[in-house]
Amino acid sequence: MFRCCAVPATLTEMGRRKSKRKPETRKKQDPLETQFTCPFCNHEKACEVKMDRTRNVGTVTCRVCLEDFQTPINYLSEAVDVYSDWIDACESANQ
Ligand SMILES: [Zn+2]
Repeated sequence: MFRCCAVPATLTEMGRRKSKRKPETRKKQDPLETQFTCPFCNHEKACEVKMDRTRNVGTVTCRVCLEDFQTPINYLSEAVDVYSDWIDACESANQ
């Protein structure tokens, strides 16, 4: 009987707290940038990085010129790491 009374009260309190926090979460922009400028066609935010955490492969693809690049990733890798690997690969190819 005590539980019956206690549980709904807790849920209500949690619900209120959650609804108060929602606007704060919305304000925050995605801290992990996944769209980058293409080194081939120079279109801004044309390159999208996808992280395949199960295969440990990062893929970056330009949706404008359709250039793509794959690189091994680990659990610490972020989208920007895949992109910078691509830039490095482009630079070494140009040399
Ligand atoms: Zn491109």
